[in-house]
Amino acid sequence: TDSIDSSTILTRELKPNQEFRFEVAPTTSITIRLTAGTAGTAELFGTELSKGLPYTFTCCKSAIYTWTGCSLSIEGSPSVEYIAEETPMATYLNLHIALEKLRVSASDCPPTTEGAQGPRVLLIGPPDVGKTTVAKILTGYSIRQGRKPMVINLDTGGEGVLSVPGTMSAASFGSVMDVEDGFGSSPMSAPSAIPVKLPLVYYYGLETPESGVKRYKRLISRMAVAVNSRLEEDIESKNTGVIIDTPSFDNQTNGDLISYIVAEFSITAIAVLGSERLYNTMLKSFSPSSTNINVIKLPTSGGCVDRDIPYKKSLRDATVKKYFFGDEKCTLSPYTVSIEFDSPTFSLWETVDSLSSESKRNTSFLPIGEDESSLQIGEEDVVRKLTAGEVDSRFENLVVAVLQVDAKDAGAKEVAESSVLGFLFVQEVDEKERRVKVLSPVPGRVPAKALNILDAEILIVMSAP
Ligand code: ADP
Repeated sequence: TDSIDSSTILTRELKPNQEFRFEVAPTTSITIRLTAGTAGTAELFGTELSKGLPYTFTCCKSAIYTWTGCSLSIEGSPSVEYIAEETPMATYLNLHIALEKLRVSASDCPPTTEGAQGPRVLLIGPPDVGKTTVAKILTGYSIRQGRKPMVINLDTGGEGVLSVPGTMSAASFGSVMDVEDGFGSSPMSAPSAIPVKLPLVYYYGLETPESGVKRYKRLISRMAVAVNSRLEEDIESKNTGVIIDTPSFDNQTNGDLISYIVAEFSITAIAVLGSERLYNTMLKSFSPSSTNINVIKLPTSGGCVDRDIPYKKSLRDATVKKYFFGDEKCTLSPYTVSIEFDSPTFSLWETVDSLSSESKRNTSFLPIGEDESSLQIGEEDVVRKLTAGEVDSRFENLVVAVLQVDAKDAGAKEVAESSVLGFLFVQEVDEKERRVKVLSPVPGRVPAKALNILDAEILIVMSAP
């Protein structure tokens, strides 16, 4: 990262309800302050800025909004910066107010009743329409209101919210979010700046749900069960409810998957961004007369920017790097650990990409309502066991998920449904010495758990107990 050129300091005066939008390239960074003496307040995607504090940004497209008007000073050179007058913030705030009313009535109910369950919101739409941003704003507002939202990210192809890319995650937020980092993404076992209890993490690894619909759905079901049991233990969280961010659902084939998520998480509101067509499909599928689900249309912010593939890749790389090495605020030093791959209990698994393997039955476009179990798809269609001989230098520079499955118990079913303990990075595969050198965020030997490699092709490595 280049050091900040302090000779370039910009000041921007914002009127009430205006927004300062900026983009920062991956190789530079800028610092923004809400001017110390300014009368107004400012927020970044729902989280308030403290006056006078420097916030540093790199590799991001973002915005600072003010309800009151304020003054900002910016050090460094954003690649894009302008003040926008039109934003959908008032609509987002109205949605928050409506949710807050439901939370108030949930808190009034006895904890054990159905009514104590706060609203459960699902955000859906095409790519880059602001789903994650709205999730952050709703989360930020509810935290400021003293609530404890459970935030769930089902977008396994995104930059990795709460955890590294390729994962689904959930966490309940009890205190303010990080302005610079949003939901954050730190190792579960390392010192962490994220204001959450251990996040629940499931590793999926394929970029789109369509590539491995069967496993994706299973993980959704596991996640829903785990989230419900956490909410049962935490009444404040239960009263606040759930906010779910999703991958891009913008066509008809995803209808089945959306219905699945709605059912598994007992969704009470579906907010559709950026697609009139999807909104109408949802209205038809979940008509108010037959369900208790509210379907809402939300406007997309003019500030939403398409992120091209190289940009998304650099975002993902940055998240992975941060997982192992931390950032300026919290530097981490990962450890090098070696795994022998000829040990008799060592075994490898990969997730089957149902779209790329033509011999496999395509499970991703099941007719709506068709029960997958009736198709009798075996466990081997979800994950496949590999031989140690299949481990080679292709796996260098990939990330490995350590699963919550004891090596001795791991069958295909356990491996396919397991949650994640943490991640390793494959530095070197020594085929001659039959050893894999990995980076680990924590010292000591790799636990006797299943491991899962991150990329389009996933690999699960079993180590000896
Ligand atoms: P989605 O989740 O639908 O893919 P995001 O919420 O991630 O979309 O938004 C896409 C990109 O646009 C992100 O980089 C986000 O930070 C940026 N963005 C969203 N809203 C604004 C805004 N008001 N001003 C500037 N950038 C924005």
